[in-house]
Amino acid sequence: MVDRLLIKNAAQIVTPEGKSARHGREMKQLKIYENQSILIENGKIRSIGNQPDWEKLVPADKQIDASGKAVLPGFVDSHTHLVFGGYRPDEFLWRMGGMSYMEIMERGGGILNTMKATREASREGLVDHSMDFLKKMLAMGVTTVEAKSGYGQDHDTEIKQMEVVRDLNEKQPIELVSTFLGAHAVPPEYKDRGDDFIEFLLKDVMPEVAEKHLAEFCDVFCEKGVFSIEQSRHLLTEARKMGFKLKIHADEIVSLGGAELAGGIPKRRGGGGGRGEDSGGGRSIKTKKKKDNRWVT
Ligand SMILES: [Zn+2]
Repeated sequence: MVDRLLIKNAAQIVTPEGKSARHGREMKQLKIYENQSILIENGKIRSIGNQPDWEKLVPADKQIDASGKAVLPGFVDSHTHLVFGGYRPDEFLWRMGGMSYMEIMERGGGILNTMKATREASREGLVDHSMDFLKKMLAMGVTTVEAKSGYGQDHDTEIKQMEVVRDLNEKQPIELVSTFLGAHAVPPEYKDRGDDFIEFLLKDVMPEVAEKHLAEFCDVFCEKGVFSIEQSRHLLTEARKMGFKLKIHADEIVSLGGAELAGGIPKRRGGGGGRGEDSGGGRSIKTKKKKDNRWVT
């Protein structure tokens, strides 16, 4: 059975031209249709125009009157730390006073501060908190959001954060794409033992994340005083073997060469029965996006 939706009489239908990412001035290259309708069949745009028979073809409850409105593709936010507990207003004051990001972190602020609040937060509390952000994002036209874990840095909280993302995918219309960022900071339990922490993630957390399809991507904070190039390379190489697609937070504060590392790890996996884009089995969530494997920094 064909499932049809009609968005009718839009004052403008706006879409970028071309099929690749647009940058700078190219972003002005738009195709604009005026006073036309969109016929969608089984979730795909079938046609744009104005055919009188469309209204008869599509049931009344599947018609949206877009008179006086512009219709455009949804925005994608490819980098968020959506699920977290607590707030850090004091740190704005510290930052305004000239303190650097790393100084704030050394003082127990930054990621470690949020880690504590996220560990203490209930799953329901995190769902409600994140839902508020998603409602605001949707109101601004955002329809796909990448969401990272990384404020637990222990087994239970990392899993909890990704389960919250999974729950949210069921509860609201924005499509969420989950990323495992356990290697976001070295937690106090592993102070000065970053290597051991990476091994903990690889052995005690990530196999479960892969098994339960809780994340599509694996990310790491490659930064001076956080995870080195070698640690990041090791984590990402092993993550890739487990079927994760890869991301990196690179060269944000100090240029360690993270971008070069990102460029250096082959982007395509070989065969094998792992999760992920090759097998198609690793898509933990209701994503319908074009498959790609780009790096996001
Ligand atoms: Zn980030």
